[in-house]
Amino acid sequence: MTDVLDLADQLWRGELDADRYHPFSHLDGLTEVADRTGFVASFANVSAFGTDDGLVLIDTGSSLFSGAVHESLRGWSVEPVHTVVFTHGHIDHCFGVERYDDDNAGQGVAPVSVVAHEAVADRFDRYRISAGYNTVINRRQFGLGDGFEWPTEYRYPDRTYRDHLALDVGGLRVELHHDRGETDDHTWAWIPSRGVLCTGDLFIWASPNCGNPQKVQRYPRDWAAALRTMVTLEATTLLPGHGLPIVGADRVRQALTDTAALLEHLHDATLALMNAGATLDEIVHTVHAPAALLERPYLRPVYDEPEFVVRNVWRLYGGWYDGNPARLQPAPDAAVAAEVTSLAGGPTRLAVRALEVAETGDLRLAGHLAQWAAVAAPDDPAVQRARAEIYERRRDEATSTMAKGVFGWAARESRARGEPDA
Ligand SMILES: [Zn+2]
Repeated sequence: MTDVLDLADQLWRGELDADRYHPFSHLDGLTEVADRTGFVASFANVSAFGTDDGLVLIDTGSSLFSGAVHESLRGWSVEPVHTVVFTHGHIDHCFGVERYDDDNAGQGVAPVSVVAHEAVADRFDRYRISAGYNTVINRRQFGLGDGFEWPTEYRYPDRTYRDHLALDVGGLRVELHHDRGETDDHTWAWIPSRGVLCTGDLFIWASPNCGNPQKVQRYPRDWAAALRTMVTLEATTLLPGHGLPIVGADRVRQALTDTAALLEHLHDATLALMNAGATLDEIVHTVHAPAALLERPYLRPVYDEPEFVVRNVWRLYGGWYDGNPARLQPAPDAAVAAEVTSLAGGPTRLAVRALEVAETGDLRLAGHLAQWAAVAAPDDPAVQRARAEIYERRRDEATSTMAKGVFGWAARESRARGEPDA
């Protein structure tokens, strides 16, 4: 079993390259991080608090890993689970409650009480009506095969709240706080007697998931404010939604403060340019995250990335019009591609130019040229191979799961079209 706290310490100190550990990794076993307090590092983490009336769990994990999480947890405690708190309704956090209900039934104990913010139920309703879209985009984001289907059955909360809720379970006080951030339904929890802060996905050992290109609105300003509030609690242990625990008041403060500063910079710089009348294109190519912050081992852009946060801020305050009048009522992509390709001297010529541009290192520009060529000549294997090559390079050079997912998807589309007929 991995020594989770030692791994976390090595990553924090920079003794272990952050590339060696992705914060969405599942690690077997449970780590006791404080008195009667367990932590399971999984795709999404699960935290457990022993009380005199049974366990309180913060999240239960994903449908894929909730069984392994249950096993790790039961190796540590066979106490019934009294209460489960969902930090939010993302599907990697809220599956597997029935396993604990079954355990309780076996012991003749009442079912688990699930507590969450009131917007979690709205999220589950939305997920049910947009399951097809969510199937496609999550296959693309995570590089999943056709076997992945978005779920349509959810465990809805038994008890909800709006702003704050203090639970008292078996002598343990658990303070729940709602703030918008990664989602509109987030809960973070503070357990004062143990000095433990459960951030949900407001801290994930990576640059914040505040710009996801395929998903709904995020709230960077509220998010940063929530992190600043957390700082005032002077927690000694931070248990994140993804990634490893942070132990020690100084480290907790630094992690929260740095993450807030990153979000505040991206938010404020983007909004200032919007207020000055800039276009989205100007803003995306002007606003960048402070390099020193991105180099922190807990802020590296391995899942989401700052460029996408800038677009998310634009969407939060603005409309979908980006400032380019050609895109207000645009021609179909295929018509633009056909015209540009024709001007360039044909799809082969444009694909060759795309590869030349890629050789200079400008993969962004090469991507446009390859896309036009491939749209204009969908059945030309050589053109498709050029597009595949360029998007494979983009995937390999991207740092974030999200960019790798989109670029990898594009490359696979063209690899399939570029194969010679059997
Ligand atoms: Zn998550």
